[in-house]
Amino acid sequence: MSRRKQLYEGKAKILFEGPEPGTIVQYFKDDATAFNNKKKGIITGKGVLNNRISEFLMMRLEEMGIQTHFIRRLNMREQLVREVEIVPLEVVVRNVVAGSLATRFGLAEGQVLPRSIVEYYYKNDELGDPMVSEEHITAFGWADTRDLDDIMSMALRVNDYLSGLFLGVGIKLVDFKLEFGRHWNEHEEMRLILADEISPDCCRLWDLKTNEKMDKDRFRRDLGNVEEAYQEVARRLGILPEGGPRDLKGSGTIQ
Ligand code: UDP
Repeated sequence: MSRRKQLYEGKAKILFEGPEPGTIVQYFKDDATAFNNKKKGIITGKGVLNNRISEFLMMRLEEMGIQTHFIRRLNMREQLVREVEIVPLEVVVRNVVAGSLATRFGLAEGQVLPRSIVEYYYKNDELGDPMVSEEHITAFGWADTRDLDDIMSMALRVNDYLSGLFLGVGIKLVDFKLEFGRHWNEHEEMRLILADEISPDCCRLWDLKTNEKMDKDRFRRDLGNVEEAYQEVARRLGILPEGGPRDLKGSGTIQ
């Protein structure tokens, strides 16, 4: 790991130069942050689980025609992805009232929305990721209206597919955050593809029967059993690492 060139270190992942041009290695850390970095902690085994969960979900999405940056998982904590230019937006899709939507409008958490809502936030930690409209996005040149049409339709397709997939394993997909990137093919044609990760770090997942939280809100709100909740999501998806929970503790790169 150390001999490769590190390109970027984020809150939950490190990006390294990939083995071939146009590829990147995404390394998943156990570090957890919340409230714009004000709360920090370690969730043991989170990186291993998120690597698996994101691999699984990205592969399922590819199968139903959503293009993603995912190429293949390399080992317990790393996956090979296509290099993209990240669109500086967090695209949030909501099915049920929770989190900042509840706070902003004084709504009770858990209320089912009459229809899914897509929101955009400008990715900027210093500014605390402010919410933005299409007007801001196009005026400041972060994306044009055609890009936004693509982003919106992909986000809704991802929502439809993942809502059904999670429902099938007894989980309610309350809301989630996606990121998109620009990818250029060999003919220099640009396409927006799904990037980053899809994991309990960036989704709200509630048990269908009990409404118990199975995501990062357990860390944000000090509810305890955070690793167990992530493990349970992986278990229900049928993808717990071969060695079981014991396998999750390794730091470093386990081949
Ligand atoms: N989210 C995320 N990264 C962020 C902000 C939000 O992954 O920087 C996810 C979050 O996990 C949730 C959804 O986006 O699934 C909606 O988050 P919300 O706006 O309610 O903000 P929060 O309550 O998480 O601050």
